[in-house]
Amino acid sequence: MKGTQAPLNQKSHKHMPSEIQTLPDEVIDLIAAGEVIDSLAAVVRELVENSLDAGATRIAIALDPQSRLVQVQDNGKGMSLEDLHICIKPHSTSKIRTCQDLWHITSLGFRGEALHSIAQVADLTICSRTKDRLNPVGRKVVYHEGKAIEESAIAIAPGTIVTVSNLFAKIPVRRRGLPPFPQQLKAIQKMIHHVALCHPQTTWQIKQNSNCWFNISPGEPAKDVLHQFLRRVNSSDVEYVRVETSTPSQKESPVSSIIELTIGLPDRCHRHRADWVKVSVNNRLVRSPELEQTILNSMAKTLPRDRYPVCFLHLHTCPSQIDWNRHPAKTEIYLHSLPYWQEEVSKAIAQALKLNNNHFSNKLSNQRVGTMLKVAEASGKYKIDRDLAGDLINKSDFAKNNSPLKIKAVAQVNKTYIVAEHSSGVWLVEQHIAHERVLYEQLQDCWELVPLQTSVTLEYLRPKQVEQLQKLNIDIELFGDNIWAVRNAPKALAERDDCAEALVELSWGGDLRSAQVATACRSAIRNGTALDLTQMQNLLDLWQATRNPRTCPHGRPIYLSLEESSLSRFFRRHWVIGKSHGI
Ligand code: ADP
Ligand code: MG
Repeated sequence: MKGTQAPLNQKSHKHMPSEIQTLPDEVIDLIAAGEVIDSLAAVVRELVENSLDAGATRIAIALDPQSRLVQVQDNGKGMSLEDLHICIKPHSTSKIRTCQDLWHITSLGFRGEALHSIAQVADLTICSRTKDRLNPVGRKVVYHEGKAIEESAIAIAPGTIVTVSNLFAKIPVRRRGLPPFPQQLKAIQKMIHHVALCHPQTTWQIKQNSNCWFNISPGEPAKDVLHQFLRRVNSSDVEYVRVETSTPSQKESPVSSIIELTIGLPDRCHRHRADWVKVSVNNRLVRSPELEQTILNSMAKTLPRDRYPVCFLHLHTCPSQIDWNRHPAKTEIYLHSLPYWQEEVSKAIAQALKLNNNHFSNKLSNQRVGTMLKVAEASGKYKIDRDLAGDLINKSDFAKNNSPLKIKAVAQVNKTYIVAEHSSGVWLVEQHIAHERVLYEQLQDCWELVPLQTSVTLEYLRPKQVEQLQKLNIDIELFGDNIWAVRNAPKALAERDDCAEALVELSWGGDLRSAQVATACRSAIRNGTALDLTQMQNLLDLWQATRNPRTCPHGRPIYLSLEESSLSRFFRRHWVIGKSHGI
C-alpha cells in the first residue's frame, strides 16, 4: 500500500460506528437489479444521486469524456473512514436495513450497488469529511479493482469528492460500445436537467475539460429552474401551481399528497415535440404515459397545430401509492388511484391557465412587450437607468394573489380590439378569437344536435364526407342524384344562413373536437363588427371565465398585455424632473 498515513485497520476506529451496513440476504433477493453502470451518464447519475441523498445543496461536476473521467463534489453529510471502507462492498447501504424499509423509501438510492459496480469497472477515489466537529479531518481512499489500496488524511471542507477514472479500461468491448462524445454529453446534460428539476434548491456547476460547461442556479419552486433549460423562455412565461390534496388509499385512510405543476403558458411557450412533458414522483423523474396523456389532453386546443406543451409535474405522495414494478429499470410506474390523479392534474392545469393576478411579475411580464420596449428605447435619446427603473417598478408592483382580475371594457379599436383596463395595466383583446374561445368551451360542455326546420341539401359529396358527417351523428340521407338531405345540425349552426357551408366544412374530416373548433370559429363575432360597451363587457366576462383564456382553440394568443410596470418604464416615470412638474 502506497502513501498510507493511517493504517487500514478498521478496529482502531471502533468508536465511530459505520452508518453503512451490508444488507441481509432476504433484502438483497428482493431488490437485486443487476448491472447499473453502462455509460458515463450512469456514473454521473449514481454519484449525483448519492450527493443528493447525502443532503447536498451544492454539487460540482467535472467531466473529461475523452479520459472517461467523472468527478462529483458535494457539500453533503460526508462519510467516516469506516463508511469509506464499506461503501464499495456489494449491497452496502445506509439507506435501508430491512424488507419493511422497502415500503417507505424516500432516498434516490437504496440498493447499495452503485459504488461497488463503479469500483469494479473503473479506478475510484473518494475523499470525504463528515460534519463532525470533533473529528474535522477528511479522508482519502483510493480503490483499485474493487479494493482500497491507499488511504490518507486530507484537508477538505465537509462533504464528499468522488473521482471515477479509466471507466471500462479493462473492458474494451464496453469502452468501444460507448456512444460518440456529443451523444454522451447530451445524455449527461439531459439527466442533470431532470435531476435538477426534481431538486430545485440545489446549485449546480458543471465543467467539461476544466472549462465551465453550464451552471444551474437554485430556485424554489422548479419554475425558477425550468426556464434556465429552455432558450428564449423567461420565468414569467411559466406558471407554477402547488396543490395539497388528500389521496384515497385502498388500505389506509387517505394520505396527504402535494401536486406541483410548472407549466409553460400556452400563449408564450411551446415545443415542436412532446419532449418537455415530464412527470416526477417523490423527487424522481418517471415515465407515466397516462399522466403524460392527461397533460397533453388538458392542453389540447390551447396550442398551435403540431405544438406541444412545456410541463413539469411533480407529485409528492406516500410511497405506498406507487407501484414501481412496471419496468425493470424502475423508470416507468403505475400509480394507484390513477383516475384520481388524472382529475387532480387536470384541475391543477386549469388553475394554472386561469387569468389571475399571480402572473404579473415585477419584471417585464411579457416578452413581446419587452421587445417592443427595447425597440422604443433603442431609438430614444436617453438611456434608461435600469436600477432606478427596477426600483420604481417594484414599488408600483401590486400585491400578488390568486383573486380573479377585474377587467373593464373601455373602448373598441378598429372594430377588432377591445381595450380593457384593469388594476395593473391595459390589455388589447382580439374580439373574434376571444369569442371563439368562449364558444368552443361552451360547445365542449354542451354539443347538441337539433333538428333543422327545413332540411339542408348538400351536393356532390364524396363518400368519405358523408361518412364523416355520419360519424358526427348528423342525420344525412341520399335525396337524389348526387344530392343529400341533412335533417339535423349542431345547435350553433342550425339557425345560420351559411349552415350548408358549415356542414360541408365539417364533412372534410377531423374528430369531434375539430368540429367544435370549426363551429366556434364560424359562429364567433367577426372582426369589423362594431360592439357597444355592454357587449364588450359581456364578452370580456365570458372570456375571463373560460378554462383556457390565454389562447384560442387554434393556439393563437388572445390578448396583448401592457402592464403598468412596463408602461411606467416606457414612459420613464422614474425620471426625477421636478416636483412642480407632477412627476
Ligand atoms: P446506495 O446509494 O444505493 O445506498 P451506493 O453504492 O450508491 O448505494 O452508495 C453506498 C453508500 O455510500 C450509501 O448508502 C451512502 O451511505 C454512502 N455514500 C455514497 N456516496 C456518498 C456521498 N456523496 N455522501 C455521503 N455518503 C455517500
Ligand atoms: Mg447510490
